[in-house]
Amino acid sequence: MVVVMKPGATEEQIQNASKKLEELGFRVHRVDGVNQTILGAIGDKRGLDPRQLEVLPGVQEVVQITKPYKLASREFKREDSVIQLDGVAIGGRELVLMAGPCAVEGEEQIFTIAERVAEQGARVLRGGAFKPRTSPYSFQGLGEEGLKLLRRAADAYGLLVVTEVLGASQVDLVAEYADILQVGARNMQNYALLRAVGQSEKPVLLKRGLAATVDEFLMAAEYIMNEGNHRVILCERGVRTFLTHTRFTLDVGAIPVIKEASHLPIIVDPSHAAGLNKWVMPLALAGIAAGADGLIVEVHHQPEKALSDGEQALTPEQFAELVREITVIARVLGRELPLHTNARARARTHAHAHVHAHAHAPALRN
Ligand code: PEP
Ligand code: MN
Repeated sequence: MVVVMKPGATEEQIQNASKKLEELGFRVHRVDGVNQTILGAIGDKRGLDPRQLEVLPGVQEVVQITKPYKLASREFKREDSVIQLDGVAIGGRELVLMAGPCAVEGEEQIFTIAERVAEQGARVLRGGAFKPRTSPYSFQGLGEEGLKLLRRAADAYGLLVVTEVLGASQVDLVAEYADILQVGARNMQNYALLRAVGQSEKPVLLKRGLAATVDEFLMAAEYIMNEGNHRVILCERGVRTFLTHTRFTLDVGAIPVIKEASHLPIIVDPSHAAGLNKWVMPLALAGIAAGADGLIVEVHHQPEKALSDGEQALTPEQFAELVREITVIARVLGRELPLHTNARARARTHAHAHVHAHAHAPALRN
């Protein structure tokens, strides 16, 4: 249930309505919008007469939420949620590009890729330090050393960091280095992890499970939000179907469906859906055309030497080409991409930090 306050409601009236809801046994999630405040009330509403709340001073209306997910639903919050993070807005008019290798492999690798993707206007550097691999014998990531490298490379080029957290016990460690915590597809229904990232201050990139329905996906977001963390970015990365020509089947249709059902931003990961480099570009374009708020793309300067997911990595040149294509589509959709020239200037400003970082870093080899 949502209690919508009138546009001019006073702080006292908002507090009063909040208190009343708590007395009735509800957990209250307050959201201060541009024009008005809304109070999401989670709890058992059997036996409650909504008129009890409607008559409170400053209350505009009481709306019942029909969906199983509450805080994630559009019924709870009509306007799109825009996640503001150090000058980067996710879910607004501007499309956000997150790019980087599948895994952090070493200092030279991550600094090289960070520089190349920053030049093209990426705002967030991706890269796994803890990797969820299908085989326990595959490269598992560099762990904390990888987190440190990722942070330094991102800082050197004015980028934010998104990286995966594999388990609840890792949240504090990963949050020390990351700006955005990634919950991977294989963990979408790891409820202990969802609760743990829900208690963190950091925004969460929640990837859709390999076989999750849209409702299950949004219920996973609800777990995070119910712990108090409303800064959730959804990510469509393809689902398992009977089709084998791509690694997963990118569910492009889920994007408008989720946009209607939820106020949360949603981005597309064309890389894991494609599985092969040559299918990444068309899937990325389709995702943006369908209304996604951005992309998370795997980029590697030497894909043939990558320790994981090399076959689906774009080269920096291919990433540049993708950005050019996205720019064209963005214009048609009335959306924007950060200008390349700005990105270059930003990278130049940070260039000395790169040299500095290299000079002091112990060499790390695989
Ligand atoms: C990844 O982003 O590297 C990853 C493992 O993705 P997913 O969880 O979508 O498979
Ligand atoms: Mn990968």
